[in-house]
Amino acid sequence: KPEPNSIQLEDLPLRPELIGAEPYGAPQLDVPVCLNVNENPYPPSEAVRKDMAKAVAKVAKSLNRYPDREATGLREDLARYIGFGVSSSQVWPANGSNEVMTHILQAFGGPGRSVLTFTPTYSMYPEYARNTHTDYVTRPRNASWGLTTDEILSAVEEVKPDVVLLTTPNNPTGTTIPVAVIDEVCAGTDAIVVVDEAYQEFTDAPEDSSIALLPKYGRLIVVRTLSKAFALAGGRLGYAVAAPAIVDALRMVRLPYHLSDVSQVVARVALAHAPEMLARVDELRETRANLEDWLQLHGLDVVSSQSNFVLFGRFADRHAVFQALLDRGVLIREVGPAGYLRVCAGTPRQTDVFRSALLDVLPTAP
Ligand code: PMP
Repeated sequence: KPEPNSIQLEDLPLRPELIGAEPYGAPQLDVPVCLNVNENPYPPSEAVRKDMAKAVAKVAKSLNRYPDREATGLREDLARYIGFGVSSSQVWPANGSNEVMTHILQAFGGPGRSVLTFTPTYSMYPEYARNTHTDYVTRPRNASWGLTTDEILSAVEEVKPDVVLLTTPNNPTGTTIPVAVIDEVCAGTDAIVVVDEAYQEFTDAPEDSSIALLPKYGRLIVVRTLSKAFALAGGRLGYAVAAPAIVDALRMVRLPYHLSDVSQVVARVALAHAPEMLARVDELRETRANLEDWLQLHGLDVVSSQSNFVLFGRFADRHAVFQALLDRGVLIREVGPAGYLRVCAGTPRQTDVFRSALLDVLPTAP
């Protein structure tokens, strides 16, 4: 028998679906310029940080107690921030939209059920499905990486999924699905329709959200996050907006006390400073647009984006380009269709470093 500390994964009675799997992760490397995970590059201001520190010091006095399981105050703050006449009974927060999505599949997916989505899309979706024993079924997006009502509904008819997962803007393409299409899809299916709007604030019309459809559809769930435009990725706070009965379903599957007191108060401070947290969104949108033009000018194929990142290519050996940039201190992402790379909008300085590094690499890029 091997020593406990030298036991290998292969020696363990792992669930069959996990055999050979790797833990998810974009590389987390200590590199001068990180443009790889679509974060907002600007840290919270000093005023916000001070308020966060005060709020954490206050809550520290009662950390011997469990937090509010229902996150009542945070849900009220979120409802106010979301607008659209949404009430706190329609809001469900968790540790990042990753956890929100897992709750959704725990409640509405599961053994013998399926989730349908359209590729290329966010690389975590198959993992949420696997972890919740939900069948993960995909159909391809169209040639412009978009989706029409007909394309979605004919796939729905064929697959008969329990959950349809639509991402707009989509990661990694940055392409959107109009609210009118989501409306028609909701009208055309009894499945739970999940709209992942993680990057909605970066679009040209952020108020054009599927949240507006909630009064019409009891099976629609819109998922958002404070990780991207809202510049709070480290705070781990995502949320679903849906009918109160859907929120009741999500409350059943969450772990007790899933959101720590610290997470709750930090997010509440950030929400109290919402305009400041979102202050750089216009600049980042412009940086992304300029980056698209610049990449195109240099002969690259660019997918027109409505997010804070751009997919560009095509390279015969994208890994070589990724590595050459990394060697120059710039970390981007090898993701999406063959031959493409994804870069996100950084500060002007970070974006400049990326551009110089790419200029250096392009002449010999395979
Ligand atoms: N949805 C999409 C489309 C994403 O790209 C991401 C982050 N990369 C997430 C959800 C998850 O974000 P978080 O868990 O930080 O809220």
